[in-house]
Formats: sequence, structure tokens, C-alpha cells
Amino acid sequence: MSAKLVIVGAAGRMGQRLVTLASEIDGLQLVGAVDRADHPQMGQDAGTVARIDAQGVALTPDFPQEADVLIDFSLPEGATRTIDYCKSNKVALVMGTTGLNDAQKAEVTAAADVVPVIYGTNMGVGMNVLFAIVGKVAAMLGQDYDIEIIEQHHRFKKDAPSGSALSLAESICEEIGKDLNDSLVHGREGKDALRQPGEIGMHAVRAGDIVGKHQVIYSTLGETVTVSHTAHSRDVFVRGALLGAQWLAGKEPGMYTMREVLGI
Ligand code: NAD
Repeated sequence: MSAKLVIVGAAGRMGQRLVTLASEIDGLQLVGAVDRADHPQMGQDAGTVARIDAQGVALTPDFPQEADVLIDFSLPEGATRTIDYCKSNKVALVMGTTGLNDAQKAEVTAAADVVPVIYGTNMGVGMNVLFAIVGKVAAMLGQDYDIEIIEQHHRFKKDAPSGSALSLAESICEEIGKDLNDSLVHGREGKDALRQPGEIGMHAVRAGDIVGKHQVIYSTLGETVTVSHTAHSRDVFVRGALLGAQWLAGKEPGMYTMREVLGI
């Protein structure tokens, strides 16, 4: 039986690909395509918006009465509404929107008491492998290696640094027992910007149509180790999110990870 799927942010870059690729999956049935009320294509068929065949589901600001799983790739402004809907209607939640503030992240965590939840800043296989190894690399190399993270994205991306870059930093801090907030230094400028031991430098590049590139640099006197990932297409994240949605529908309430979905 197909899981009934709602997509939030359905008219966006990610949302359109979600609508398109979901239409190719037998195990998912699109029942809701939600976007902000003042979107210029409001009321049009979600398939038409995504430039594929009509799907019989209109772009709407309202959530459907009944659904099994929801994928949100929109903006943080709508997060609370999405979370409240999932809790009230017992709909599994795949939250892919990045840039959530601490209160919104706490709401996502609390939702896991009521429904099954995946909250992932990056739903792709490759980046989840990176999340799994970057801390181990830091631990193996030891304290004398300076760690810097550089992320690159397209000129339209609103939040910085990227959610994935923050997750990389979190994974490193978790593994080597550092406090994330005390360790991160965002960009550097000025006459007194000397690197301090133990800090993790974070740098965000915004240019053109770069889909997503992340580098973790570990450097000491004499050598540099670099772990990097380049996304060529948004579809890697979209496929991951759809896989996550299928996996999550019908699970017990709780917080699950893409690493569990992918078995890594
Ligand atoms: P986009 O700007 O192209 O699309 C966002 C869509 O959300 C738009 O259609 C917009 O109208 C809609 N929207 C805005 N406010 C809304 C609200 N309150 N309610 C409902 N819809 C609303 O952006 P995008 O490139 O598609 O990215 C969307 C999000 O997905 C971003 O947060 C981005 O960082 C994130 N993202 C996550 C991953 C991942 O793997 N987790 C990968 C890529 C992008």
C-alpha cells in the first residue's frame, strides 16, 4: 500500500524535484503540495508547477486532512506550522529545511515524542558518509591538526553557514569532545585574526549555481588532509528524502537519522 505523502515547499527548487521523483515511486502517493499563500502559482497543479504531467494535487497553503508522511523543504518561517500539523494529525515528519533556530530545533525534537521524525541537514548518501567519518579523522590525526570547513553554495541560498557544514562541525566536536559553540570561528578579518589553537574555522562561499560543495581541511606543519564532497545535482538530497519518507511511514514515534535509513 502506498504511503500518503505531503510536500511542504512544493513550488521551490527542492519541492519541484520532490514532486517529480515522488511521481516515479509506487510506494508514495502525493496527497498534498503545500506552499506559502502568496506564491504566484498557488492553485495550479503541483505537477504543472514542477513541469511534469498533472498530478491531480493543487498547490495550496493548507494541509490535507489525512496523510502518512510529510517532507518539508521550505523555509524556517513555516516550521512551527508543519510540526503542529504532524503532531495533531499523527503524520511522520521528514524535516529537511535548514537554518532552523534553537527554538524550532527544540520543537522538532519534541515532535519525536508524538510521531516518527527524521531531521537531516543533508539527506544524501555521500554526505552522510562524511558525517560518519569526519570526527574519526580528527581523532586519528590528533590535536596538532588545524580544522577548517569551507562550504560553497549557489547565490540564492539564504542561510549561512550551510546546515551540512554545521553538521560536519557537530560530528567532529562530538567525536573529540569539544563544545561546538566555543570552537567555531566564522570567517576571519582584521589585523588581529590570528588562528587560536583548537578552533574550527567555518567559511561560506556563495556564487553562481553551485549545488553544494563541502571541504574539511585538517592541516599541520608539513601536511594537509582534505575530506570533501561535491553534489552535482539536488536529486541526491531529494532521493534521500523520499527514501527516508518511505522508511519512516508507519514507524513508532521517535527521532531517527538518515544514517539509520541508509544503513551506514
Ligand atoms: P527555494 O527557495 O527554492 O524553495 C523554498 C520553497 O518554500 C518556496 O517555494 C517557498 O515559496 C516555500 N515557502 C517559503 N515559506 C513557506 C512557508 N511558510 N510555508 C510553506 N512554504 C513556504 O529553496 P530550496 O533550494 O528548495 O531549499 C529549501 C530548503 O531545503 C532550504 O532550507 C535548504 O537549505 C534545504 N535543503 C536541504 C537539503 C537536505 O538534504 N536536507 C538539501 C538541499 C536544500
